[in-house]
Amino acid sequence: MSENQFDYIIVGGGSAGCVLANRLTANGNHRVCLLEAGPSCKSLVVSIPGAFAYFMFSKKYNWMFDSETKDDIRKGQPVFCPQGRGLGGGSAINAMIYIRGHRCDYDHWAALGNSGWGFDDLLPYFKKNECNERGGDEFHGGSGPLYVSDCRNYYAINDHFLKAAEQAGYPATNDFNGPQHEGVGYYQFTIRDGKRCGASHAYLYPAMDRKNLEVRCGAQATRILFDGKRATGIEYRVKGKTHSVYANSEVIVSSGAYNSPKLLMLSGVGEKAHLDEVGIDVLHDLPGVGRNLQEHVDSCVLQESRKSDGFTVSPIGLLKNALDPFRYLFRKKGKLESSITQAGGFLRTSQDLDVPDVQLHFIPLLYDDSGRDLKLMSKNGYSCHVCVLRPKSSGRMTLRSADPKAAPRIDLNFLTHADDRKTLVNGIRLARKILASPSFDDYRGAELNPGPDAQSDEEILAKCKERLGLVYHPVGTCKMGSDEMAVVDDRLKVHGLEGLRVVDASIMPTLIGGNTNAPTMVIAEKAADMILG
Ligand SMILES: Cc1cc2nc3c(=O)[nH]c(=O)nc-3n(C[C@H](O)[C@H](O)[C@H](O)COP(=O)(O)OP(=O)(O)OC[C@H]3O[C@@H](n4cnc5c(N)ncnc54)[C@H](O)[C@@H]3O)c2cc1C
Repeated sequence: MSENQFDYIIVGGGSAGCVLANRLTANGNHRVCLLEAGPSCKSLVVSIPGAFAYFMFSKKYNWMFDSETKDDIRKGQPVFCPQGRGLGGGSAINAMIYIRGHRCDYDHWAALGNSGWGFDDLLPYFKKNECNERGGDEFHGGSGPLYVSDCRNYYAINDHFLKAAEQAGYPATNDFNGPQHEGVGYYQFTIRDGKRCGASHAYLYPAMDRKNLEVRCGAQATRILFDGKRATGIEYRVKGKTHSVYANSEVIVSSGAYNSPKLLMLSGVGEKAHLDEVGIDVLHDLPGVGRNLQEHVDSCVLQESRKSDGFTVSPIGLLKNALDPFRYLFRKKGKLESSITQAGGFLRTSQDLDVPDVQLHFIPLLYDDSGRDLKLMSKNGYSCHVCVLRPKSSGRMTLRSADPKAAPRIDLNFLTHADDRKTLVNGIRLARKILASPSFDDYRGAELNPGPDAQSDEEILAKCKERLGLVYHPVGTCKMGSDEMAVVDDRLKVHGLEGLRVVDASIMPTLIGGNTNAPTMVIAEKAADMILG
């Protein structure tokens, strides 16, 4: 076999791609090539849990996409859409919160006609994926590759948040992924011994020495090669030079919710009218590619604090934490051994609902614009971010041009559905109620957002839009299903083509009610079984 001939080619070494690379090479029978546009991510900064903010400024590890602008959103500025770039993908730069969502999310996928995708079908894969430090049980895995640990070294103000939620009448839970999903509590994290445990750490690096796995970094796929309607390989670029690799069995696209539909479109697979618009020859008219874009849109209550025990980037705040890098470097201890988001919850904005409709991320600092508003972060304060868990608004990703280097055009269609607006406003009222509880009496300063003048639904909504953000969970742009807008079937094969699958967050038909890293890895675990089976 030539050095560019493989059984499987995986495009993208992110959360899904790393799982696939490991599982497809485990029995030694298949030669696999993993192409990754970004770097290897073996550097120290990737392993530091507390380095989250760094990645929001890093073109090396982050694709740094922006949304299309809307006049009423962030005062006409784009919303930042970070996406991981490099081995590990999103899991190399994410906040490491370990969440699965609610069982109803997956049962809904199955009810849409996707056989084998209900919660009971997927639970064995969640367990196979997970090594929870609390041990395995009915809900959890105790020996999988992905290490899941309890929150360590948290800011004390988080305890006040949990107490405040209890005072406001909301339940507590100590396991969002166990028997009681609903409630507030400390999150669990994909952190092992004070170091990030991303998909590359859990699945890829341990398999890198296998002779049947070839990993090529800095290799950006520009086109899927076809023989008729059969995918036969990938054309990719390294430092401006074009190369090709070929697949005997399958090409698997795992480039994430923006870059997977982009690669399909660049290869002539997508809506004909759009491909004509950007001058790409149509190989296969598949109108759903890039549509059904769903994200967790969020906004926040920002509250100044009269105490200074949270985190700030003020000179005094930074001085206070000056020893943390040393504590971390020498002992993997201190504030840097944890994610900055430590507590939160899944709550119902109305008792009439069957399941939580908002997720809270409590942050011990004034956090907006993905941590890029340093002026805001230099004040003492805390934030309660609220996201709409199952948005009914959906957007679309399209190409700007036929140039593979051009960033995708991301139209998130924020809050176009009235139910999403209502849920967000009600969620902000709920967060305000928690932050107004006695537990915060010694802390509470001025409310910076929505601010005391925002009391009616319309006023709150307007302020939410000014501070609109994302939880970085884009999905759905190559959705699984059998309707005319579906891109892949329930075996994740692209409709109407051969030898081509999409395996990543883009195949979710609907956004799950929680953070999307573990669910994406589970999609890949199941896909690996289907491919090998
Ligand atoms: C900042 C941030 C914070 C987050 N926080 C959390 C969290 O705390 N908990 C949680 O559960 N989820 C979180 N998420 C979401 C989660 O990380 C993602 O849902 C998940 O990583 C998506 O996995 P994926 O395999 O679909 O795509 P990705 O992990 O994004 O992988 C796609 C990979 O493909 C590569 N690629 C793209 N195009 C090409 C190309 N043309 N050629 C070659 N390679 C290519 C990319 O560089 C990338 O490595 C966060 C995400 C971000 C960005």
